[in-house]
Amino acid sequence: MYLQRNVSLKDKNTFGIDVSCQTLVGINSIADLSVAIKEYGQPLLIMGGGSNILFTRPVEGVLWEIDIQGIEYSVINETETELIVGAGVDWHDLVIDTLSKGYGGLENLSLIPGKVGASPIQNIGAYGVEIKDTLLWVEAFELATGVLKQFTVEECQFGYRDSYFKKEIGRYLITRICLRLSQVPTLNVEYGDIKKVLHDSGINEPLPKDVSDAVIAIRRGKLPNPAEIGNAGSFFKNPVVSNAIYKTLLSQFPHIPMYTAPHDQAKIPAAWLIEQCGFKGKIVGQTGSHAKQALVIVNYGNATGMEILEYAQSIITDVNAKFGIVLAPEVNIW
Ligand code: FAD
Ligand code: NAP
Repeated sequence: MYLQRNVSLKDKNTFGIDVSCQTLVGINSIADLSVAIKEYGQPLLIMGGGSNILFTRPVEGVLWEIDIQGIEYSVINETETELIVGAGVDWHDLVIDTLSKGYGGLENLSLIPGKVGASPIQNIGAYGVEIKDTLLWVEAFELATGVLKQFTVEECQFGYRDSYFKKEIGRYLITRICLRLSQVPTLNVEYGDIKKVLHDSGINEPLPKDVSDAVIAIRRGKLPNPAEIGNAGSFFKNPVVSNAIYKTLLSQFPHIPMYTAPHDQAKIPAAWLIEQCGFKGKIVGQTGSHAKQALVIVNYGNATGMEILEYAQSIITDVNAKFGIVLAPEVNIW
């Protein structure tokens, strides 16, 4: 366990927002949890890599930075392994570790920033794959009772960028997760440009590592690197509407894109809606929408969290006025 008082969180959130934190407690192990509560009280906020948080105010109390390490593989049979991973392991490092051992399943989730503990919170997803697809269980510590509980995938109530934990944010601290991976996974190369990148590289029978390399190349070409320009990835979720609403929209906006969603619904890319309202590449003060991906709001230097939130609100207002759709933030607002 480690302790820091009155620190800036600027280097601890990918938006690069400069807010202060009264008491930062670093949690290295499950044993640290009860000790930390006893010594410093309940945390106001739990943090992994800070890549899905927008700070609009200081943390005037205790913040826990989760740093529980460890990746334990247990071979199940000739092709499969189960692995238990600590919440503080860097997500992309985990993906690379599994691929280096010949196991696939996480390749489409390459280069997602953040730590393992946050991955079930919004059921991280990219290129047609979600963490729920390979997850066996999540272990979480209930802050109010100090009880350590294992959640099955069903109990996690995963949805599109959603989970039981997201609905109950702050109630549980995710300590470890267990995944099942295979040396012969079913690869998903249908999404976006993956197939094209593989084809252009002359790869006809890709291995999981090839798919990971393709995803990394696509992401590097399109998304702003938080180390260079502050952002938290997609600021909004893609809205999911009924097919009836989609048909009405289609009659007004013949080019509106959609992807089929479960329960006879339509997922509309939020980036398209935002772009149609003129925000793509727009700059307002120190913030704005990224020129290559309108869904990403960026900090051009010294934006405050409130400035970014107000800009996000202007997007919500304009998209609602034009399309009658209220965008919901994916980023957690503090
Ligand atoms: P944090 O930002 O630290 O925390 C996020 C939330 O989870 C907070 O509410 C926090 O309180 C809570 N939390 C964190 N750790 C724990 C824990 N151990 N127990 C309980 N609660 C916890 N997301 C995707 O789904 N797909 C993508 O493709 C994707 N691409 C991205 C690209 C970029 C460039 C960026 C900046 C972000 C992207 N994201 C993406 C969003 C983000 O990386 C993920 O949501 C990631 O899982 C957040 O991890 P973190 O450790 O940084 O979480
Ligand atoms: P993209 O390929 O330009 O596609 C735009 C949107 O359309 C995506 O959000 C995606 O929804 C949807 N989409 C595209 N092809 C689809 C298909 N075949 N089936 C269903 N939906 C489809 O998106 P991008 O911005 O470059 O991102 C690529 C992937 O990385 C996406 O999966 C995206 O979610 C993920 N990503 C997430 C974040 C984040 O912070 N959450 C940041 C960057 C990238 P989905 O988002 O539902 O996949």
